Amino acid sequence: MEKKRIITGDRTTGQLHLGHLVGSLQNRVRLQREYETFILLADVQALTTHYQNPGQMKESIYQVAIGNLAAGLDPEKVTLIQQSRVPSIAELTVLYSMLVSVNVLRHNPTVKTEAKQCGYGDLTYGFLGYPVSQAADITFCSADLVPVGDDQLPHMEIARKLARRFNELYANGDELIRVPRALLSETPRLPGLDGSCKMGKSLGNAVYLSDDADAVNRKIHSAVTDTNRIAVRDKGNPDVCTVYAYHRAFNAGERADICEMCCGAQIGCVACKTRLAEKLNTLLDPMRERRAYYERRRDEVRGFILEGSEKATRIGNEIMARARAAMRLEI
Ligand code: ATP
Ligand code: MG
Repeated sequence: MEKKRIITGDRTTGQLHLGHLVGSLQNRVRLQREYETFILLADVQALTTHYQNPGQMKESIYQVAIGNLAAGLDPEKVTLIQQSRVPSIAELTVLYSMLVSVNVLRHNPTVKTEAKQCGYGDLTYGFLGYPVSQAADITFCSADLVPVGDDQLPHMEIARKLARRFNELYANGDELIRVPRALLSETPRLPGLDGSCKMGKSLGNAVYLSDDADAVNRKIHSAVTDTNRIAVRDKGNPDVCTVYAYHRAFNAGERADICEMCCGAQIGCVACKTRLAEKLNTLLDPMRERRAYYERRRDEVRGFILEGSEKATRIGNEIMARARAAMRLEI
C-alpha cells in the first residue's frame, strides 16, 4: 500500500528550541517511518514578520534544516522543501485568496494572538493572509495529514474550507484539491524561560537545540519559577513553575520525585534547576553531535534542500495544471 503523505514545517526565523522538540520534532522523527514526510522550510511565512531584515534568512534556512536533521530526521526518508522555491505554492495562494473573506482572517484567533505578540495594530496584507498561504503549503502536494499543535487548528479549518470550496466551484465536487486532515499533537505548549505561555524562536525566551551545555545551564538557572516561593523552606507549587513544566516534558524518570520534594520544601530551586540542566544536556548531546556533522557538510544540506524543492515543484506543477484547466484558464 502507498504511504500516506504528511506535510509539516517551521518558519525560518532562527534556531529551533525545546518547544519544537516536544511540540513537533519528536513526533516527526516517529512519523517519518510510517508516512511520506515533507518538511517545509517556511521562508515566505517568515517574511510576514521578518520582511524588513532578510539578512539572516539564509542562515535561518540552514539552521532550521540542520535542526530537523540533528533531531533525527533522515534525509534519505524526508523531503526538505524551501517554500519560496516552489512556484505553485504562490500561485495557489493567489487563487485561494478569492475564496476567503477578510473578516474570516481578521477573526482568526491565532492571527489575533500573534499580531498582539508582535505589537501589530495595522496588519500587512501578507500577515493577515498567511493562513491562506499556509492552505496552499498544505494542499499543493496533496498532503493527507498535517501534524499540528492546537494553535494551528483554526488554520487547518481554513485550509479544509478552501479545498472544499475550490472543489465545489471548479471540480464538480471531485477531490481535485485533497482535503487535508489535522493530526493533533497532545503535548501542551512549552512555556518560555520568562514564564510566558510560549517558548518562541522570535521571542527571546528559548533554550535552543544548538545551545552548548554552559548556555543550557545558564539559561535554566535564569528561568522563572514559582514566584510565591521566596525561601527554600517555603513549599513550592509545581503547577505554576516553568522549570517544573520542563521536568514534566523532559524528565519522566524524576518528575514525580521532584514534584513531591518541591511541594514538601525538600528541594530548593537551584538544585532542581541543576538536575534539569543535567537531564537536558544528556538529551541534547546526541543532537549536538549530529548538528556538528551537518554543519561540516553544509553543501550536502544545500543539496537535500534543492533536490527536495525540485521534487515539490514537480508535484505542485501537476496540481496547478489540473487546477488551471478546471478553472478554464487554459486557452
Ligand atoms: P516564531 O516565534 O518565529 O513564530 P516559533 O518558535 O513559534 O517561531 P514556528 O516555526 O512558528 O516556531 O512553529 C512551528 C511549530 O512548532 C508550531 O506549529 C508548533 O507545533 C511547534 N512549536 C513552536 N513553539 C512551541 C512551543 N513553545 N511548545 C510546543 N510546540 C511548539
Ligand atoms: Mg510561531
